[in-house]
Amino acid sequence: MKNMPAVLVVEDEPSIAELIAVNLRHNGFRTTWALDSASAEREILAAVPDLILLDWMLPGESGLVLAKRWRAHPRTKEVPIIMLTARGDEADRVAGLDAGADDYIAKPFSTRELLARVRAVLRRKTPEQVGEKVAVGGLALDPSTYRVTFEEQPLKLGPTEFKLLQFFLNAAERVHSRAQLLDKVWGDHVYIEERTVDVHVKRLREALCGAGNMIETVRGAGYRLTAKPLVPVTSVEKTGA
Ligand code: CA
Repeated sequence: MKNMPAVLVVEDEPSIAELIAVNLRHNGFRTTWALDSASAEREILAAVPDLILLDWMLPGESGLVLAKRWRAHPRTKEVPIIMLTARGDEADRVAGLDAGADDYIAKPFSTRELLARVRAVLRRKTPEQVGEKVAVGGLALDPSTYRVTFEEQPLKLGPTEFKLLQFFLNAAERVHSRAQLLDKVWGDHVYIEERTVDVHVKRLREALCGAGNMIETVRGAGYRLTAKPLVPVTSVEKTGA
């Protein structure tokens, strides 16, 4: 990990932004603050941060719109995003994850939770144990160059999907429960629900395009990467384990 990770805080409420900035700085992070989408875009143009803390409810463009745009943009697509949200229900949290966020924090949150989640997301992003190149059934992943290809065609994956795929590839044909995936891929999963795993598996399947059906749902057990998919991708996606 870099010495002082840079966190961009996009939050229109100064008291919350200040609270976050003070706590992050005390814990070895650099922070910049943007109070709306226009100033956030300016900050990103000046320097790509290591992580973005993004409020959902902003004046003008919402955090959801920004997350989608940043995830699609080459400059920002690999920057982890944690959504800050007052919205508590699961549909909204899933919408945030679907928009490309790597995690979310519901307001009000404790500074302990904030730091735990920021560190967990950065750990996932930072390849501490880089690992070996691995290839299964036409799908290849190279941790040193952060590249994934299927039948030689490059694929674009977010940081969490990359780590999830790396784990699946290194343990191909084995079935993993959601709890095991949280433990191995997310590591610090104190605050993460098992539903989050489903969201990221769905995103991984979509990102893998033609290879998406290599990730099988094993009913009642979890997920498995297999080189010999037995069912079409549509029925795999509909199946709940
Ligand atoms: Ca707000």
